[in-house]
Amino acid sequence: MKDPTSDLGEDISPDEAPACEWCGDSLANAPNRRTRTWVEDGEVQRLQFCDDACLRSLRDSQE
Ligand SMILES: [Zn+2]
Repeated sequence: MKDPTSDLGEDISPDEAPACEWCGDSLANAPNRRTRTWVEDGEVQRLQFCDDACLRSLRDSQE
């Protein structure tokens, strides 16, 4: 179980500077970023990645 906020600076909110769910890089300057959304228990879940490769890596790791 990882803490999704642990790698963020204290004065930057997760909404302002999201980090790649796979490699942890800041997405502030990621032109190829990908967002994956789905609905679970009536709530929208969202994961963001710096590019397709990271999205694919996380997806593969969950199978
Ligand atoms: Zn990444």
